[in-house]
Amino acid sequence: MESDFINILNELMCDEEPDLPTRLNWQETALNDLRCTDRALGKWFENDSVLYVLSAFRLSDRDFASVFPKLKTLSSNQREQIVHAFEDHIEHCPRCFRKRSYDLEFEARLESTLNENRDFLLKKLSHEDADKPSDEEHMKNGKTRSAYQ
Ligand SMILES: [Zn+2]
Repeated sequence: MESDFINILNELMCDEEPDLPTRLNWQETALNDLRCTDRALGKWFENDSVLYVLSAFRLSDRDFASVFPKLKTLSSNQREQIVHAFEDHIEHCPRCFRKRSYDLEFEARLESTLNENRDFLLKKLSHEDADKPSDEEHMKNGKTRSAYQ
């Protein structure tokens, strides 16, 4: 279900901007030409967007542990220090600096596609939910039921 939704989003984004795949490819090539100055930090941004990683490190302890279970022993202080190290690195590393600007650009594009197609997408989502209740609904129902027992 989730991947269907992402496919629909992708299609919408490409409809709005037919040269998007070409641009993304071009950005990927441009990034590959740049060298990260500190791979220990930069590797975090290889598969996820810079914005995603930074906001994940700022989550509450519990939410952070669910995103990065292997790192759940990090205290919020330690995570704050890592975020500072990330930010410092991004300012000084040509590759990660560029990656962040591409990520920002993509996120802005995604947001405008979401906004422009809000009704259509909401309909799509609620239609899919009708077939199969989401996990969240399962949990809500479960909680309601046990509250009455
Ligand atoms: Zn870097």
